[in-house]
Amino acid sequence: MNYTILLFYKYIKIDDPHKFQQEHLNFCLENNIRGRVFVSEEGINATVSGTKENIEKYKNELRRYPEFEDIWFKEDESLEHAFNKTHVRVKKEIVHSGLQDVSLANGGKRLNPGELKKFYEDNEDFVIIDARNTYESVIGKFKNAITPRLDTFRDWTKVAEEYKEFKDKKVVTYCTGGIRCEKASAYLIENGFKNVYQLDGGIVTYTKQFPDTFWEGSVFVFDERRIVEPNKKEELKHIGQCYYCGTKTSWYINCHNQNCDKLLVTCHKCKEENDYCCSDECRSSDNKRSRYHG
Ligand SMILES: [Zn+2]
Ligand SMILES: [Zn+2]
Repeated sequence: MNYTILLFYKYIKIDDPHKFQQEHLNFCLENNIRGRVFVSEEGINATVSGTKENIEKYKNELRRYPEFEDIWFKEDESLEHAFNKTHVRVKKEIVHSGLQDVSLANGGKRLNPGELKKFYEDNEDFVIIDARNTYESVIGKFKNAITPRLDTFRDWTKVAEEYKEFKDKKVVTYCTGGIRCEKASAYLIENGFKNVYQLDGGIVTYTKQFPDTFWEGSVFVFDERRIVEPNKKEELKHIGQCYYCGTKTSWYINCHNQNCDKLLVTCHKCKEENDYCCSDECRSSDNKRSRYHG
């Protein structure tokens, strides 16, 4: 395990994102740091990988900027790079939300992983809502969590309407690393929800501290690992079931008939046997995706 994967974000005013982007990209290229870094006037959001040594340098480099002095890194060990390339881009938002008008100052109260665990252990009366996309929540979620259908994060605006019955209840939102909840929780509050919490550090922090507790299944991640399995207990490893044979699994594909594109949880064996398609009809389609590119 000679490599480290870093995940971090911070909402903070950056005066000249373009200048930062240039300096940052140069540093990454010189030190073989790979991954995706998004900067904007509202902050930074990144997942990168590198050797342990280079990642230490990278962290020091970031902390050189007063804005990022106190930045909090989520770290994972790895046998190799988690990315092939380096992208440092200037964006309008550090996570594309379509919720630009939401004020981060209105974000939900921060709930740390230990406090969430206690909510469960104490049978606290609360509702927990997944703020990730359906292709993420289909293979893993917190116990009893509501997983609204979200094709993109923009669909979150519908959630406030759909679940307005919970306006007076204690509501917890969560996402992978916490970043989406900054706006998701603020959006609920601005739309009349009175008691909203956001899971601080997200799923990655919770599952690192408390595997085999209230997180069920796997975690979708935005690097080449795609899927991380945090639990050791057999009954908590997978929540997905193979569409074809029913085996528990955390892997899925989109049907390779591009006109169908249906999300299919499937074990590796069945996916091969079924030619990456959900049905005979899709298998014989003229519009099938090629299997041999990314
Ligand atoms: Zn199967
Ligand atoms: Zn299909």
